[in-house]
Amino acid sequence: MDHSLLRHAGIKATFPRMKILDIFYQHAGLHMSAADVYRSLISDRSNIGLATVYRVITQLEGIGLLKRTQLDAHTTVYELNDKGHHDHLVCTHCGRILESSDPAMAQLVRKIAKRSGFLLDSYSLVLYGGCGCRQGAPTPSHGEFE
Ligand SMILES: [Zn+2]
Ligand SMILES: [Zn+2]
Repeated sequence: MDHSLLRHAGIKATFPRMKILDIFYQHAGLHMSAADVYRSLISDRSNIGLATVYRVITQLEGIGLLKRTQLDAHTTVYELNDKGHHDHLVCTHCGRILESSDPAMAQLVRKIAKRSGFLLDSYSLVLYGGCGCRQGAPTPSHGEFE
């Protein structure tokens, strides 16, 4: 990857920053928690501690290279911030994360904010359900919101 991204953002290209950013480029398209990044560093034999991982990820998010999504009260995932806004669909059985980008949804959100006189900075939409991984399992055919 291009480490000049860090210099352009005005922060030093230290080893942990370059290494952690590399992990995200190696797993482009994936959503990773700090623990996922940490595990990946261990299998890479990198001597970077979990506290450093948290700190660096927060810095990379702060300069706009990573995008953070709060999936639930306990799970925060990060991904490269290179695709523009999209929403997430999370499978509550297998943890799979799908993405969706629908201009109609963005429009609706802006409309809702405007109607309330709310100045919208950003929004985050997460849909929970099943991705189809449990086909054959005795699950009800309709979700609560169908
Ligand atoms: Zn699934
Ligand atoms: Zn995503």
